[in-house]
Amino acid sequence: MKGYAMLRIGETGWIEKERPECGPLDAIIRPLAVSPCTSDVHTVWEGAIGERENMILGHEGCGIVEEVGSLVKDFKVGDRIMVAAITPDWGSLEAQSGYPMHSNGMLAGWKFSNFKDGVFGEYFHVNEADSNLALLPDEISPEEACMLADMVPTGFHGVELADIQFGDTVLVIGIGPVGLMAVAGANLRGAARIIAVGSRPVTIEAAKGYGATDFISYKDGPIDEQVLDLTNGKGVDRIVIAGGDVSTFEPAIKALKPAGKIGNVNYLGGGVYIQIPRVEWGVGMGHKQIVGGLMPGGRLRMEKLSQLVVNKKLDLNPLITHRFNGFEHVEDALFLMKDKPKDLIKPVVTI
Ligand code: NDP
Ligand code: ZN
Repeated sequence: MKGYAMLRIGETGWIEKERPECGPLDAIIRPLAVSPCTSDVHTVWEGAIGERENMILGHEGCGIVEEVGSLVKDFKVGDRIMVAAITPDWGSLEAQSGYPMHSNGMLAGWKFSNFKDGVFGEYFHVNEADSNLALLPDEISPEEACMLADMVPTGFHGVELADIQFGDTVLVIGIGPVGLMAVAGANLRGAARIIAVGSRPVTIEAAKGYGATDFISYKDGPIDEQVLDLTNGKGVDRIVIAGGDVSTFEPAIKALKPAGKIGNVNYLGGGVYIQIPRVEWGVGMGHKQIVGGLMPGGRLRMEKLSQLVVNKKLDLNPLITHRFNGFEHVEDALFLMKDKPKDLIKPVVTI
């Protein structure tokens, strides 16, 4: 089969591979639509998770079941399915302790385009099909299902990590597609005020639609100073970080109230240390929490999140700014993600 792969750090291209084999608990899927992720860009061009040779890229997709293993109970050939970017081993001790994303090792629930071939192939493999697939509801398009694979669960996980409560003032740093879903999630959770940090008009417009109330640009001066100006020097209750880099934690801590919480879902592609400012961190005693997390994945989460779309509480179409038709355009879509033109939020390739 054909696939679009990371050949080595800094280099991508089309390759031929054997079609993946289906174990007794697994499924083989033929993609209906796929989307590239900023994470693919960190992985290939920053080498952020180390060398990978001839690994098919992509972890956002949906498709049709082509084959199921002998022990799969709930899915059959021909079903239209969704699958999250993270596909844990649900029997692992980490999953049993509530952290399926780290099943059998840190970040090891993230298999597609990390530990095995991803979804940019003519076929892709899903482990533990009964736990990791979900039926694609008729009301949801394949393009929307791609947004449900990663952007929605990741942005929403940032909201969970930040523990957003009714009436909170929330700061969302970075309003690419992940940050936009953090804005939407904060809004659904009852945040009163949502301050969004971005610079491009296309994302600011989308953030307004998802419930952001205030806007600042990281290009107009330090984020913390702008936030303190907007909040009469008080700062915010909760922060979701979905953009920036290792230096973004400093303004975040400075903009956060004592006992506030930061949920980071940004993939830190470079740098060695993250700097936390000592004084604004309450000289070690400010009860300012920082949790960085990979989203959990799995069938239950996909079924639940998709119901927000089915019941019209969440519209994913504003995320999709570029649409391609045909598998051969996977390459164009990935390079769009790398080059990030000003009008881009997310590209999708329908197959
Ligand atoms: P984008 O690149 O589309 O968006 C990044 C956002 O951050 C933009 O709004 C950008 O502003 C803003 N930004 C850029 N530089 C800074 C800065 N110095 N300070 C503050 N904001 C800044 O990324 P995505 O939304 O696609 O993804 C966000 C992150 O989430 C990525 O690192 C991605 O790899 C990661 N990710 C993590 C996952 C997880 O499970 N934890 C899963 C999926 C993705 P503008 O463009 O307007 O200038
Ligand atoms: Zn991703």
